Amino acid sequence: MPDTLEIIRNEVAACTACNELATTRSQTVFGVGSPRARLCFLGEAPGADEDRQGEPFVGRAGKLLTKIIEACTLSREDVYILNVLKCRPPGNRNPAPDEVAACRGFLDRQLALIKPEYLCCLGAVAAQTLLETTTPIGKLRGEFHDYRGVKVLCTYHPAYLLRNPPAKKETWADMQILMKAMGIKVPKQAS
Ligand code: URA
Repeated sequence: MPDTLEIIRNEVAACTACNELATTRSQTVFGVGSPRARLCFLGEAPGADEDRQGEPFVGRAGKLLTKIIEACTLSREDVYILNVLKCRPPGNRNPAPDEVAACRGFLDRQLALIKPEYLCCLGAVAAQTLLETTTPIGKLRGEFHDYRGVKVLCTYHPAYLLRNPPAKKETWADMQILMKAMGIKVPKQAS
């Protein structure tokens, strides 16, 4: 039987590979958007709002991500948004390496089906997991990397931008690089 997003979504919903996550989550958070998206945004893991609503990036950081997407003249429906981990780490702690490893297959299968041309990694966990590197996010950002033939642009996580607003200009520069490569015209100045 060919793999489908629905098959993976059901496997994710039933997954108990990480005992702590499986026993503390309200629900799994699979991904949202167009399954034919040219561009995917990859985050770290669901937070409290995402765990409650079952959708990635719906809390404060999510609202900023939506603004970034819209500043690029796109909408959440045009892209696909997903996370490295499908369960919320309790207290929003960082994902543990064994949790990232356990969830990795789901991520690779989602991306193999969506086949985006471009991927935007949000923050160090997403970037370092996808690219299998320990290079800091500040060094990874600003240029394209490769993941299985997909062009990968890394930038700061929106939660970091909320804590450190001056870094927004770097993320906006990253979005300009991404949009230029995608052939999407965007105004020079973000609102
Ligand atoms: N932060 C993430 O990395 N992902 C979400 O879905 C929400 C917040």
